[in-house]
Amino acid sequence: MIVKIESEKCTGCALCIEDCPMAAIELKDGKAVVIAEMCRGCEACVMSCPQEAIVEDPKFAPAPQRAPQTMHGWRH
Ligand code: SF4
Ligand code: SF4
Repeated sequence: MIVKIESEKCTGCALCIEDCPMAAIELKDGKAVVIAEMCRGCEACVMSCPQEAIVEDPKFAPAPQRAPQTMHGWRH
């Protein structure tokens, strides 16, 4: 799942930033924010957040199962 951070719970401790293998989290105005394009949904940050501020982003919640797609053939 792609995650998002509930900023009202976030204390800006940056533990999630340290634990994100994709460097997909950054601090903005003292709050962590997920860069959704870089998040691969490993959920490491969910485990590391002491505030339970990291949750699934419903915008990216999986649609009913679709066939897996590869990146081949995608245009930029
Ligand atoms: S789910 Fe994984 S890739 Fe996404 S922000 Fe959290 S630690 Fe980073
Ligand atoms: S670990 Fe949780 S409280 Fe700490 S910066 Fe990340 S989202 Fe905020």
